[in-house]
This record gives sequence, C-alpha cells and structure tokens, in this order.
Amino acid sequence: MTMQSKLLERTGGYIGGQWITEAPGGNFDVINPANGDVLARLPNMAAPECVAAIEIAERSLRPGEPVSERRRWLEILHDRLLAMKEEFAKIITSENGKPLREALVEVEYAAGFFRFFAEQTPRLEPEVLPGRMRNCTWTIHRRPAGVAGLIAPWNFPLAMMGKKVAAALAAGCGIVIKPARQTPLSMIALCHVAEQIGLPVGRLNVVFGPAGPIGETFCTHPAVRVISFTGSTETGEWLAIKSAPHLKRLALELGGNAPFLVFEDANLERAADALIANKFRVAGQTCVCANRVLVQARAAAQFTELVAERVRKLRVGDGFDPASDLGPLIDRAQYEKVAAHVRDALARGARRIAGSDPPPLSHDWGAFFPPTVLTGVTRDMKVCCEETFGPVVAIATFDTEAEAVAAANDTCYGLAAYAFSEDADRLDRLSSQLQFGHLGFNTGTGPRPEAPFGGFKRSGYGREGGVDGLFEFCESQVVARA
Ligand code: ADP
Repeated sequence: MTMQSKLLERTGGYIGGQWITEAPGGNFDVINPANGDVLARLPNMAAPECVAAIEIAERSLRPGEPVSERRRWLEILHDRLLAMKEEFAKIITSENGKPLREALVEVEYAAGFFRFFAEQTPRLEPEVLPGRMRNCTWTIHRRPAGVAGLIAPWNFPLAMMGKKVAAALAAGCGIVIKPARQTPLSMIALCHVAEQIGLPVGRLNVVFGPAGPIGETFCTHPAVRVISFTGSTETGEWLAIKSAPHLKRLALELGGNAPFLVFEDANLERAADALIANKFRVAGQTCVCANRVLVQARAAAQFTELVAERVRKLRVGDGFDPASDLGPLIDRAQYEKVAAHVRDALARGARRIAGSDPPPLSHDWGAFFPPTVLTGVTRDMKVCCEETFGPVVAIATFDTEAEAVAAANDTCYGLAAYAFSEDADRLDRLSSQLQFGHLGFNTGTGPRPEAPFGGFKRSGYGREGGVDGLFEFCESQVVARA
C-alpha cells in the first residue's frame, strides 16, 4: 500500500524538473514506523545522479537575479505550506511517526523560515559604505555562494531541511537536497509545491540513496560551495575531513547532550510541565531535548514525583490516533540504542520509577518505547554521557550552583541547555557560564526562525535561523570603484 496524497502524485528523485524513479542502484522502501506499511518505493541514487543534480543546480544560477524575485518565491512557499498544512502534516506523521498535532506545529515552524528569510532578503541588496576611502566608492554585494548541498535527519522531515532550503533560496543558491532515508516524502512534497509555483527548473533538486557516495560527492564536486548538515557528530566530522582539501564552507548542526537544571527555588510544577513538553517531542528524538536532568538535592524528591506522575499518564501509539502523546521510535537501531541505555543505567545502579522493560523486536521498522523515568543517575552511565534520543528522563542531583554548572558543561557537546530558577541573578550568572548555543531559562522551548541556532564545541559550527543563517549561504564581495 503506498501513501495517497495530492502532494505525492509523483514520487522519485527530482533533478532539473524531472522525476527519477529508477536508478542503477535499485530501489528502497519508505516505511511507516508505526505499523510497517510501505509508503513509497524510491530509487537508490548514487554519485552519478548526484553529479547530474549538482550540475543542473549550477546551471540554474542566474547572475544578477533580482532579490525581490526570490522574496516572492519564499512568500508563496510560506503561504502554500500553511494552505496545505494538513496535507504536509499527514506525510510527516506517516513517515516519522510523530503525533499529527506535533506534525502540524512542524509545518508552521517550517513555514516560519520561509517567511523570515523572505523578510530578510533586503539585507542582500548592495550596501554602499559611507565616505570615499582611497577616493573610491565602496559597495558590498552579498553574492550567492554557489550550489548548496543540504543533508538533514529524520526527526523533523520538513522543518530541518525546510530551514536550509529557505535560507539557500533567499541567498540565490542552487540546491541539492539529500533527505534521510527514513523520511524523504516531505521533501518530495516540497518539490511538488516548488514546481507548481514556477521555481526556475534546476534550482531545487532531490537525491536519495546511500549517504556515503552522495555525501562524498557534495564534499568533492567543485560547484558545491556550501554544505549544510544536521545529524550526528561522527557524520559531521567525516564531512569536514572529506571536504577539507576542497575548502568547502560547512554549517554543521550536530549532536547534543542537553542538561536541564532545576534549582530548589524554581517553580517545580512549571519546570515539570516544561520538561515533559521538551523531552517527549518526537518521542525524545530531538537534538535539543533534555538528555540529563540535574535537580538540586533538596528539591529532587518532589520534582521527581511531579515528573513521574506526568510520565505515567503519557499515551504511546499511532500518531494518527488523537489520544497518542508520543509515537514510535524511528527504527530498530534507535529502539535498540535506547533500550541499551536503560539497561546500562539499571545495571550501574539507577532506579526506574516509571516505564517498563521494552519488549523485544521482531521487525526492523520503528517501535513504541515505554516512556521511562530513571533516578540515581551518575555520570558514568550512557544516559548521561551519550545522547539517548528516546523517551527516557534521566535524573541526577547536585548540591550547589557551581556543581550544577560544572556538571552541565561536563560534555563535549554544546547545543542546548535549560535552567529553572526564580532567582534572576542566578540566571544572569548561568547565561555567561553555560557553554551552549541555545539556552532556555524557565522554558523548554527550542529554536525559532528569527534566532541564530547552532552549537558550541562538538555540536558543530555555523548557524541556522536568524540573519546568521542567511549569510551562511552568501559570499561577501567588495567593489572599490574609483
Ligand atoms: P542520525 O543518527 O541523526 O541519523 P546521521 O548523521 O547518521 O545521524 O544521519 C543524518 C543525515 O546524514 C541522514 O540524512 C543520513 O542519511 C546522512 N548521512 C549519514 N552518513 C552520511 C555521510 N557519510 N555523508 C553524507 N550524509 C550522511
């Protein structure tokens, strides 16, 4: 049974306005992680198809293209995404498994990037510097960097790639997308919309298939000038190494290990509500979700109970069932990893106060994992030192603020961190001490299109969103004219 949607009337790779359904590498199936249904069969493309896409994207570049035209495309794409919100959300839920209401929020979030970057396009107009240094007029142009190779993961199939596409389109780049194997359909749907609105042929292209050969082609083909990647730190490093001899510009949004600090002077109910919203979005499979919950010892028992009582009420099920609070994990590998983290914590002395042993799996597609709360967590446990990416709340304690800061920063990652306290001075101190690109104080909210998002340390470099996110895809060119 393949998925029916007016946005998926044709499926396949998309190169130069053509839908590609066959490739020498054969095909792969897109599977609904909630029930194993085959949603689509897509071609396994490889380096030759990727080269074709890059070269067509390069030919679509138009020197001197009016910025106002790009603004118009972005505005229309924003409007179309919202007008077809339900249609996009159903595709997201089918391929990713997340509850439909979360998918609807994702479509709005993705649309927000098209609106935001449309509004920012005036920043790309030439800027004349004041004065006449060396008897010249000095003009700064923001040129499109060239072809952008975009790679994104499966946890936000529309938004993760949408934010990159919106910025690259605004900047005037040609685009080649490689979505995650698990969730390629949202990008096929986006191509349908791009086709309908008359985006120049070749400006937006999509390839699927084994990640290595496609990633390597992005790294080595001279026309690709920017690679924007969201995914694991290991893959980010691999891309950096492969592309280093070619001096590509990279924007890398990599792994996280977000601490969630709760001080004894916090509003504990509010902190517990925020933790549930933050931790269980996409069943805990987001790079900004709390990985380590660190609670001041005197508040630990009360806070833990507030969290556990909420977690015990969470309903796990098919994302199309309105009663479901969280859907399945994306695939067997993810399920096994989360199960191994819980086993490791229990073996090292953690206590499970909500959740149960995950049942063994007899299939490879996604599976439902019981929402779990662990207490007595210590820094030697995998739940503490690795990113679990699942519905597991791992709670440890601290005594002093200094200890909390040291524990929070005790990770090679630096993407997101959260702190809850009613003491404004404490929050001010924390903001300069926590080594993370995104801080949530008395909120568990993640990034917004208007704000630059990215990591410190091994969470990568470069920013998405904000004006910074736009300039990742531009080259500044200066003309001094006598
Ligand atoms: P995750 O664990 O979040 O899936 P990955 O880094 O494995 O993280 O995958 C994120 C994205 O990167 C996916 O689209 C995946 O296909 C892609 N990817 C994985 N390995 C490579 C690679 N060597 N080159 C390019 N893309 C890759």
